Amino acid sequence: MVKKSLSALQRKVEFPFHYSPDGRMVHIVVKMADDPGVLASLLGDFRTEVNLIGTSSYSMGDGSAIFSGFGRVLSPSEDAAAIKERLSKSPRVLSCQVSESEQGLLIDRFHFGFQTPNGDEYIMIPARALSSTYEAFVDKFKTGGETILFYQGRDYARARMGYYKTIVGSDPKAIFNKLGGILRSLGWAATEITFDSSGRTLTCVNTECFECSSKTKNGRRCTFLRGMAVGTAEVVFGREFSSEEPRCMQKGDPVCEFVLTPIDGLPLI
Ligand SMILES: [Zn+2]
Repeated sequence: MVKKSLSALQRKVEFPFHYSPDGRMVHIVVKMADDPGVLASLLGDFRTEVNLIGTSSYSMGDGSAIFSGFGRVLSPSEDAAAIKERLSKSPRVLSCQVSESEQGLLIDRFHFGFQTPNGDEYIMIPARALSSTYEAFVDKFKTGGETILFYQGRDYARARMGYYKTIVGSDPKAIFNKLGGILRSLGWAATEITFDSSGRTLTCVNTECFECSSKTKNGRRCTFLRGMAVGTAEVVFGREFSSEEPRCMQKGDPVCEFVLTPIDGLPLI
């Protein structure tokens, strides 16, 4: 039995929306100082205007924190603009945004589906839909299709790393750990990365893999993600890599595994 990592066992985040056709809802996002007691005081500020039904909060790591909450508006005279105005006057609030439900549907537009910090626009698509698109692609173009997927993954990672390098530091092991967390949070894969004892190969073991979420009939493997692993390693180490995939869920293995070796044969770390 494969022992799953803690990250692989974490509950997945559900798409954050709330449907309530009978009442007015607001989504409140507040940036506040990351100090003891600030969140508790902030929650007290809403008491008479909004009945909070779902909240989260997290530190930004720069002395500030974000509060995000869905709530039901208690008074007919209240609206998003009035709540925002009142919150903006609070000394606890560094900045805030309040949006109201439309036709009963409230969506967390602050966190999902729109833009990443480097300005890329995102859409959400079910993992299985993208995986089955790759399946159709390989059905049509055979090994040529797999080759294109590999290079697409590699080039995508190369382009993204230009941005990620600015946020993950320069230590290779730390970089891969952080990138593993980013991949997991984006829903692409749950990845454990290890360097072998000789320091000459890098192994990625995926216990979840979006590319394998739609089962194959044509024998394809998770080639796009293998390309991403290679592209990432190439940027991190500034060298070229060969890659193999000895295990893949598409073959019935419990995990997908990429083994990356630098073409120059020299140690990585
Ligand atoms: Zn796979």
